[in-house]
Amino acid sequence: MISPDLLEILACPVCRKPLVLRGDEALKCNECKRVYPIRNDIPILLEHEATIEQF
Ligand SMILES: [Zn+2]
Repeated sequence: MISPDLLEILACPVCRKPLVLRGDEALKCNECKRVYPIRNDIPILLEHEATIEQF
């Protein structure tokens, strides 16, 4: 589980916008629609690891 404090300082590496928690296993950027995985409680904020949701 990602703590709210940590979540607050995380930003999308592509557009530098804040990320929102999506379930327990992903972080989403509402700006570019990229979804970053969380593995072993560590957010993987890498552009090539992200998937893009079209909605
Ligand atoms: Zn973004």
